[in-house]
Amino acid sequence: MLRIAHLIDGGLLPPACERHAASLDPATGAAFAEVPEGDERDVDRAAEAAKRAFPMWSRLPAAERSQWLLRLADAIEARRDLLAREESVDAGKTLAAAREIEIPRAIANLRFFATAILHEQSELHDMGGEALNYTLRRPRGVAGCISPWNLPLYLFTWKIAPALASGSTVVAKPSELASVTAFRLAEIALEIGFPRGVLNIVFGAAPAGRRIVEHPDIPSITFTGGTPTGRAIAKVAGPMFKRTALELGGKNAAIVCADADLDEAVPTLVRSAFSNAGQICLCGSRILVHRSRLKEFMDRFLEQVAGVKVGDPLEAETDMGPVVSAGHRARIEGMVARAVDAGAVVSCGGGRPRNLPARCRDGFFLEPTVLMGVPAACEAAREEFFGPVVSVQGFDTHAEAIALANDCDYGLACSLWTRDLDRAHRMAAAIEAGVVWVNCWLLRDLRTPFGGVKDSGIGREGGVEALRFFTEPKNVCVKLRG
Ligand code: NAD
Repeated sequence: MLRIAHLIDGGLLPPACERHAASLDPATGAAFAEVPEGDERDVDRAAEAAKRAFPMWSRLPAAERSQWLLRLADAIEARRDLLAREESVDAGKTLAAAREIEIPRAIANLRFFATAILHEQSELHDMGGEALNYTLRRPRGVAGCISPWNLPLYLFTWKIAPALASGSTVVAKPSELASVTAFRLAEIALEIGFPRGVLNIVFGAAPAGRRIVEHPDIPSITFTGGTPTGRAIAKVAGPMFKRTALELGGKNAAIVCADADLDEAVPTLVRSAFSNAGQICLCGSRILVHRSRLKEFMDRFLEQVAGVKVGDPLEAETDMGPVVSAGHRARIEGMVARAVDAGAVVSCGGGRPRNLPARCRDGFFLEPTVLMGVPAACEAAREEFFGPVVSVQGFDTHAEAIALANDCDYGLACSLWTRDLDRAHRMAAAIEAGVVWVNCWLLRDLRTPFGGVKDSGIGREGGVEALRFFTEPKNVCVKLRG
């Protein structure tokens, strides 16, 4: 079995505690890798190495940092098939999604920020002959990057790439539930001779994450994960005046207006509900449909959901694999059961799939599930399932749709389906979310600001926002003598 080791100061190290936890293949329930139970001793060594490497890395010309990131990207690309397979086995995602979307996106993240730093500009504020102000941006030091299990290498590189590109050194921690591709990244970094101490990867669960957050030599924390964890991080990082970007949970609405093109909307909303078994923070899990189209929508939606093939994620025809763990499945099942007790109706799914291949009999599978009539106060209407469960509800006016979409503690994303341009702009402006897609879903341009409002987090990733996050602006005012 693969035994993972930390990448610290240019070497692979076992955990100080000498303990490992088994990481399971969600499709079979079998142990797949041994993940170090990293703790504060490992994080302290990593932070020390990153701090030592910072002066060298931060002074390296942008063109050289860029070259290093491009080499990492090339090496990942050369191993794309192997990484895709391991990502699929480690996290239960379909091989096709790992190969065609997620590993390519990890490569794109590195290339995007590697080249973005070659085009950086700084501001100059001219005081009309009296003085010139210019802005210097300097990397802030060691960056702590903590990521979740749902899009492992994709989100890990989404944080590491801008940190390294902007001149920070890194102490990063992937999720203990899906660590394998982050370990492969560590091996790749060693193989290409990535400068020592610049990229440190510590494996483990909450104890390692907590130490990254509280470490006095890590002034920037970028975190993607659950809202309760984000809240705990904010409590520690706030009084230390750390800069934080917290990308948290979502309970995203999809609004289908009276004039929506259902030929486009229905298949996209099936994808947005069940991609990665609903385990994407951006999944549309609350579908709101204008009552004049509700019956037509439901007929077509349920027909297409019935066609979602649940099965072995390694098989080419599979659309949806398992959820990440037995515990996560039990949590989702509990939420569905309580919603039904509260009056919700299961329109399809609601259980565990039968007819799985023998290999997958002990995997953590669920049927794609559609609920109707979920009472507004119910947990299922307000909290994320983060699984293959979606609710559908009717509305009468577009103002009501906006009120329903906004009646939620989360504010990450929304997709809006209408052919009326004025309505699209007006509704997009009124929706409380960091991202609004009009007549599409998950169409991503890496230059755009990405993040949520309310309990979905603070701070923005993407493009210039990410590069600025890891740098500190300094205004220099030069008086001009007349
Ligand atoms: P999680 O919060 O349990 O864990 C995320 C990471 O934080 C893991 O690496 C974990 O080990 C670490 N961690 C746990 N406790 C910690 C602590 N006290 N201090 C520091 N680090 C700690 O989340 P998860 O279950 O891995 O991921 C699912 C969640 O992530 C969902 O809520 C989902 O919506 C959210 N998510 C958000 C986005 C986004 O961009 N907004 C993207 C993907 C996932």
